[in-house]
Amino acid sequence: MNFDETPEQSQLRAAVAAMAARYGHSYYVSKAKSGGHTDELWAEAGKLGYLGVNIPTEYGGGGGGITDLAIVGEELSAAGCPLLLIVVSPAIAATILAKHATEAQKQKFLPGIADGTMKIVFAITEPEAGSNSHRLATTARRDGDEWILNGRKCFISGVDEAPYVLVVARTDEGGTGRLSPALFIVPTDAAGLTKSKIDMEIVSPENQWLLYFDDVRVPHDALIGGDPAAGLPALFSGLNPERITVAAGAVGTARYALSRAASYVSSRQVWGRPIGSHQGVAHPLAHAQIQVDLARLMVMKAAWLYDQGRDVEAGIAGNTAKYAAAEAAALAVDTAIQVHGGNGMTTEYGVATLLGGTRATRIAPVSREMILNFVAQHVLGQAKSY
Ligand SMILES: Cc1cc2nc3c(=O)[nH]c(=O)nc-3n(C[C@H](O)[C@H](O)[C@H](O)COP(=O)(O)OP(=O)(O)OC[C@H]3O[C@@H](n4cnc5c(N)ncnc54)[C@H](O)[C@@H]3O)c2cc1C
Repeated sequence: MNFDETPEQSQLRAAVAAMAARYGHSYYVSKAKSGGHTDELWAEAGKLGYLGVNIPTEYGGGGGGITDLAIVGEELSAAGCPLLLIVVSPAIAATILAKHATEAQKQKFLPGIADGTMKIVFAITEPEAGSNSHRLATTARRDGDEWILNGRKCFISGVDEAPYVLVVARTDEGGTGRLSPALFIVPTDAAGLTKSKIDMEIVSPENQWLLYFDDVRVPHDALIGGDPAAGLPALFSGLNPERITVAAGAVGTARYALSRAASYVSSRQVWGRPIGSHQGVAHPLAHAQIQVDLARLMVMKAAWLYDQGRDVEAGIAGNTAKYAAAEAAALAVDTAIQVHGGNGMTTEYGVATLLGGTRATRIAPVSREMILNFVAQHVLGQAKSY
């Protein structure tokens, strides 16, 4: 058993960390508060090849795996720049496209994702369906050489930054009367597609949107894989990369919070010595550190299993990693705020800004309760409870 990263992975980690450190949390927060986007950071990461590490080399990527992308996401977050669109564009969209798109679709979209010049966002969640994807009601109806999409999606991240959105819609192509999911790549400026911003209590330069599809017409070649039957496997192929990279980002944010906290408690003196010398301060930090290290181990195991093509095991490990990383990150951020005292809530010390984003990782992309349902059923053999 070898727990070491390859030399290339260690170099990637160090290089991403060095680049991200030049931006840092204050850059991220200033973009969030001014309504801007992290365009410079995204462009540099793309130029240096970090956004395409998991994309095949023939489409301009690095030819690596989700482990490499998890490293990129973790190190960006560990520098205080938790970029959610890493999860959406290179993890979900690029994986789905690389594995299930037609050759023409791959050539059209993957090089832009790899070099950071094109973001592709992902829309599955619907207001009425919630966690129950069997209730998805957005439909795609064939009309000659076109498809017509109707429905609503919610919490779709980054629509304002992306020229295309990958949409999960149901079709009746099998003629069975039962609608099955298919994936369409839709221009975000398509006629009939409107968006409205959801105001969120998350300090982030990346926005969430409600999308309305009102007779949105797309050509047949917008259908991923060119066949509605490609939809379900394509959809499933995006789930593990999504969970693993969210978990990696959460671990990175937890590391950032704990490093800020460790540095603060080493210098802050209230009773004539650093507050970190009191066990009441040091033990909660040490406890959080242990939770983060455990979660990190599971994230890397899940990524490794995924890259070995062991999808079923990666599914269990990816869910476990997402659960553990979200809990560890929520604990680490809360503890980091606590040991800062009043400074924990100030803008200057920049730890409370992490609260909303880390809290959201316990809800999205799959909630902790749905992961507990999954583990109870698929690991512990219990009856489906919902
Ligand atoms: C910051 C952010 C970014 C997002 N980005 C995207 C995106 O880019 N694209 C996209 O498609 N979606 C996105 N989402 C949506 C996200 O995936 C959903 O919010 C998530 O899947 C939960 O669905 P819901 O909000 O409808 O909650 P609901 O399904 O309504 O659940 C509400 C609560 O009930 C619990 N619950 C529901 N059913 C059960 C059950 N059977 N057993 C036990 N508990 C249950 C849930 O765990 C949760 O705590 C994003 C969400 C956030 C917060």
